[in-house]
Amino acid sequence: MLDADFFRRWMTATAASVDREAERLTALDSPIGDADHGSNLQRGFTAVIAALEKEAPDTPGAILVLAGRQLISTVGGASGPLYGTLLRRTGKALGDAAEVGEEQLAEALRAGVDAVMQLGGATPGDKTMIDALVPAVDALGDSFGAARAAAEQGALATTPLQARKGRASYLGERSIGHQDPGATSSALLIAGLVEAADE
Ligand code: ADP
Ligand code: MG
Ligand code: MG
Repeated sequence: MLDADFFRRWMTATAASVDREAERLTALDSPIGDADHGSNLQRGFTAVIAALEKEAPDTPGAILVLAGRQLISTVGGASGPLYGTLLRRTGKALGDAAEVGEEQLAEALRAGVDAVMQLGGATPGDKTMIDALVPAVDALGDSFGAARAAAEQGALATTPLQARKGRASYLGERSIGHQDPGATSSALLIAGLVEAADE
């Protein structure tokens, strides 16, 4: 079973990898965006960690709802409301249980990803975070490691795609040949699950 500490470790691991990879995320957002994805998420996850320390929510659901709210209120870019919705909706689906099973987390994340698709209008193949998140959720029933591999694969597979949503879509065909920054950061979020489980 996954307890509140697991979810705290998940957010902490994600914040740390976003810090480590911020320059790369921003570099990916430079040819097909406005070069702020790394700094956007760094600001967001710094606020998430500060809020978790201050408010000390004690259930998996409350941790994710708080994290999502922080991302929505501190990240100016498109990714803030989208990631915020992902975590908030996932947290709501977990309810107020003190511990949740891996299957329950997979179902909740599925609801979260569906909410992101509804909010942003993207579907798989549009060259967005959805291209990493959908395969990750599909693989989550197997293991966290399988979900991480699927997310990384999904992020790499955005390179030949033409963007149909978000800022990169303004470039039309010129968006082809670049890996999507949001799909790349989504792979970091999913990798955080493996780190949280390993500790
Ligand atoms: P902004 O484009 O506002 O500067 P960011 O750079 O932080 O925001 O985030 C860009 C990422 O957000 C993209 O790489 C893409 O993965 C994701 N994104 C943008 N629009 C959408 C959308 N409508 N649905 C899903 N993801 C999206
Ligand atoms: Mg940007
Ligand atoms: Mg921006």
